Amino acid sequence: MATMTEKVARPQIRQTQCFIGGKWIPSASGKTFETIHPATEEVIAQVAEGDKEDIDLAVDAARAQFDGGQWSQLDARDRGALMHKLADLIEAEADELAALETLDNGKPISDSRAADIPLVIDCLRYYAGWADKIQGETIPIRGDYFCYTRREPVGVVGQIIPWNFPALMAAWKWGPALAAGCTIVMKPAEQTPLTCLRMARLAQKAGIPDGVINVVPGYGPTAGAALVKHPGVDKIAFTGELATAKIIQREAADSMKRLTFELGGKSPNVIFADADLDAAAAGAHFALYFNQGQCCCAGSRLFVEDSVHDELIDRLVDSNKNRRLGDPFDPDTEQGPQVDQAQFDKVLKYVDYGKADGARCVSGGNRHGDQGYFVEPTLFTNVTDEMRIAQDEIFGPVLSVLKFSDVDEIVRRANNTNFGLAAAVWTRDIGKAHRFASQVRAGTVWVNCYDVFDAAAPFGGFKQSGLGRELGEAGLAAYTECKTVTVAM
Ligand code: ADP
Repeated sequence: MATMTEKVARPQIRQTQCFIGGKWIPSASGKTFETIHPATEEVIAQVAEGDKEDIDLAVDAARAQFDGGQWSQLDARDRGALMHKLADLIEAEADELAALETLDNGKPISDSRAADIPLVIDCLRYYAGWADKIQGETIPIRGDYFCYTRREPVGVVGQIIPWNFPALMAAWKWGPALAAGCTIVMKPAEQTPLTCLRMARLAQKAGIPDGVINVVPGYGPTAGAALVKHPGVDKIAFTGELATAKIIQREAADSMKRLTFELGGKSPNVIFADADLDAAAAGAHFALYFNQGQCCCAGSRLFVEDSVHDELIDRLVDSNKNRRLGDPFDPDTEQGPQVDQAQFDKVLKYVDYGKADGARCVSGGNRHGDQGYFVEPTLFTNVTDEMRIAQDEIFGPVLSVLKFSDVDEIVRRANNTNFGLAAAVWTRDIGKAHRFASQVRAGTVWVNCYDVFDAAAPFGGFKQSGLGRELGEAGLAAYTECKTVTVAM
């Protein structure tokens, strides 16, 4: 990738239509919707607005491709090779894709270049390596029988993704589905359809057969709901809000579709007094403010042991003062705008709740500038467990700091939430760290680090943060059915 010294140029927008059965087509209704650049609020593209008819076409294409077996029964190593080819094409276009992500989502170009797109490539390569390693077992059952299992692709999968990491969420969902031999109908988030459409074009160029990946942009209650209800879809993989997941779970019950969910969080980040405070302060800042606070695993409940509380707050306030907000195409920018007006309004509403509930706003709390959806990095102290800013997912740059003195209480307080996506602990005491890691009810626990992701490491939620796991071998298993074959000898 080129090193960045000056403002990065805006990329061209090339794909805005539905991608169905290898063809780029307008929506059946002819309708389009606008996508905007959140830093300027200007319209950057009109994108095909898919609905039930388009979903029907896409599911037909995915079904025909799956049942025809051109992909699902392709030699596994060749499937892997095509996935590697897709990763190579994305790598060759990484700078442009990063710029497209920044344009559509508003995230700083330094993040989309250093994090989003490299992680996309890594995820696709990781799962490309799995394609020819999906194996069953031989099982010693009673009697004169030979019993074995096969791991078969689950079939046609509907994948519904959010707007916070648009390209990466597509890769997390395509990787295991493609490796397993499934075919895909993806509905990207209405706020950010562009990188997913570009990646579909690159999949086509890589030689992944028509109908394997289909993309229908559109809204959740129309296109998304049609995908969930479609009888030709075998599984829904969804990342988004808990409330939406509950609707999907109800809708999918009739057809008994397989479901995996990756939902929200209110992740506890616990700093003990014996921690390396430099690392803990930097880690707590990153844990919450990265990606404008728009991370499902954001460390949004920061618990700090009382003897180091004030020192830590000073450091956090300093970091917030120095945080560079502005044009996301400027390589020096550290924080861009929230993704849209609705998110911007929600974040500022929670700032009001924090104040109304009696917390102290010691940093930020306002809009930044007068154009775009920028919110100052905001920090609340004197937060108590029952306040709305300590309970609800805000999905923005608002950090709630809670004090603790009783070490034995901290696990109970950390677990005092319906969510269970992630948690972190900062301490030099290895026993304390492992005790916390074993007792906290969360799918991922980071010790003396935060947001360390790897395609090989499973990710997902306890409690109402999700169902099933993505990434790693567990993520792959969620795209297979286990078949038992028993042969009389
Ligand atoms: P977020 O707050 O991240 O936008 P949502 O759950 O609203 O969370 O959106 C995540 C994804 O789910 C988006 O692609 C959205 O269009 C889709 N979606 C929203 N409502 C529904 C629904 N009723 N059925 C299916 N998909 C939906």
